Amino acid sequence: MAALYWFRNDLRVEDNSLLTELSQTYTSLYCCYIIEPQAKNSSAPFNTTVGKHRWSFLKQSLQELTDTLRSKNITLLVLYGVPEKLIPILVDELSIDTLGCANQVGYREIQRLKAVKKALPKLRVKTQWLHTLYEKNVIDNTNALAGSFSKFRKTLEKHAVEFKQLPSFVDWPANDAKDPNTIKSLSPFCLPDDFYETDLNTKLQTQSTSSALIVGGCHQGLIHMQNYFLSGAAEHYKQTRNDLHGLHRTTMFSPWLALGCLSPKQVWRAITEYEHTNQANDSTKWLKFELLWREYFQWLARHNGNELFTFKGSANTPPNTSFYSERFKKWCTGNTPYPLVNALMNQLNETGFMSNRGRQIVASCLVNELQLDWRYGASYFEQQLIDYDVASNWGNWQYIAGVGADPRGGRWFNIDKQSQYYDADGEFTRKWQGDRQCYPLDSVDLVDWPVADNHVN
Ligand SMILES: Cc1cc2nc3c(=O)[nH]c(=O)nc-3n(C[C@H](O)[C@H](O)[C@H](O)COP(=O)(O)OP(=O)(O)OC[C@H]3O[C@@H](n4cnc5c(N)ncnc54)[C@H](O)[C@@H]3O)c2cc1C
Repeated sequence: MAALYWFRNDLRVEDNSLLTELSQTYTSLYCCYIIEPQAKNSSAPFNTTVGKHRWSFLKQSLQELTDTLRSKNITLLVLYGVPEKLIPILVDELSIDTLGCANQVGYREIQRLKAVKKALPKLRVKTQWLHTLYEKNVIDNTNALAGSFSKFRKTLEKHAVEFKQLPSFVDWPANDAKDPNTIKSLSPFCLPDDFYETDLNTKLQTQSTSSALIVGGCHQGLIHMQNYFLSGAAEHYKQTRNDLHGLHRTTMFSPWLALGCLSPKQVWRAITEYEHTNQANDSTKWLKFELLWREYFQWLARHNGNELFTFKGSANTPPNTSFYSERFKKWCTGNTPYPLVNALMNQLNETGFMSNRGRQIVASCLVNELQLDWRYGASYFEQQLIDYDVASNWGNWQYIAGVGADPRGGRWFNIDKQSQYYDADGEFTRKWQGDRQCYPLDSVDLVDWPVADNHVN
C-alpha cells in the first residue's frame, strides 16, 4: 500500500499528524512539493512574481525538509507544474492508494485540491487542519466568526488548543518506497539541480542583526523559537511589540509559521510551557492574543473565499481610491514624500521583512495618503514578504483599507505622530535611508493625469 503526501504550507515532519499517520499505515510513502507556475506569476489579481527573499527562504526550507526525509529513506520530489496534471502522473506511476495533504484556507489553494480530486475521482484523499490552532468543527460549532475579532477571541479562549501525542520521526517504520526519481515521465517537471543554490548570502544576513536569524527550515525555526524564550524577551513582549526594529522586540516567528516549518500549536505550546516555568503575565497573554489574530484571519479567509481579493472586499464597500502608476512605483521603491515610509519600504526590499507596526504605517499611507487601490499594496507584499501568508496578508490589508472585518471601517495612521512615537530620534529612518530621496507625490498635476490605468473593479 502506497501513500503520497503533498506538502503545501506545512513544510515539517514534527507535529505533522497526517504525515505521521501515513508513515505508520502505509508501507511506501512518497512526498512531493509542487512549485506552481503562479509562484512566478502569483495568485493575486495582479502580475506579481515571487521576490528573491521569499524564494530564498522557501528554498532553504525545502532543502532542509529534503535532507530530513532522506534520512528516513523518503525522497521529496520538488516539481514545477500544475498539481492536477502532476499528481495523476505520480498516482499512476507509483500505484498510490491515498493522497494526504493539509487543508487550506486560501481560495485558489482550495480550488487546486478540488481540481486534483476531479482529475482523480477514485483516489482516496485524506486531509487535516495543520496550519491552524483549531479544527474547522470548533469554529463552525461555536459560530466564532459571526462578529468581530473580540468575539472570536473570547469564544475560542473557552476552548483549549488540543495537542496530539505523535511518535517522533525517528520512531517511524522503515519506508519501502522505490526511488521516484527514476520515473521518466516526471523529468520535464523536475527542478534543475541548481535549484538549491540559493542566494543565501543576501543582504538578509548582512544588513540587520535580527534578520540574520532568519534562515528557512524547521530546525532553524525551532532553534529560533527556543532562543527567543531563553532570552527572556517574552517577559516584555507587550511593551516592545510595536517597535520598528531590534532583536527580540517581537518574536519573528512568522516566516516559519507561514511555510509551516513551525506549527501554530508548537508556538502555542512553547508559550504555555514558558508560562508554567516563569508565570503567565500580560506579555505572554498578548503573544497568545496575536496567535488568535492569526487564527482569525485564517478562518476569515476560508469563509470569505474570493472576496479576499476584490476591490470592495468582504465588507462590500468600494474605497475611494484608484491606481496611479507613478505613486505606486514611488511607494514600492521608498521614494515617497514620507521618510519613515521610505525607510520601511527600503527595509522590506532589502530583507523581505517588516514589523507589524511598519506594515500598518505603509499600508495606511498607500490607501490614505497616496489614495491607491489597496490590492496593489497587498500584491507587492505578497511578492516581497518572506512570511507571506494568504490569509494574514490579504486580511490585514482589507482591515486597513476598510473593506474587511474592521468594525471601525479602516485605519488611518498619522505618519508624523507614528514617527514621533516609534522613531523619535530618527535612528530607524537613518539606518534604512528613508530621507535619502523624498520626492513630491506626483511629477505632474493630477488634473493632467490620463484616466487611471489598470484599474480593476
Ligand atoms: C498590511 C499587513 C500585511 C501583513 N501580512 C502578513 C503576512 O503575509 N504574513 C504574516 O504572517 N503576517 C502578516 N501580517 C501580520 C503581522 O504584521 C506579522 O505577522 C508580524 O509582523 C510578524 O512578525 P512577528 O512574528 O515578530 O510577530 P509577533 O508580534 O511576534 O506576533 C507573533 C505571531 O502572531 C501572529 N500575528 C501577529 N500579528 C498578527 C496580525 N496582525 N495578523 C495575523 N497574525 C498576526 C504572527 O503569526 C506572528 O508571528 C500583516 C500585517 C499587516 C498590517
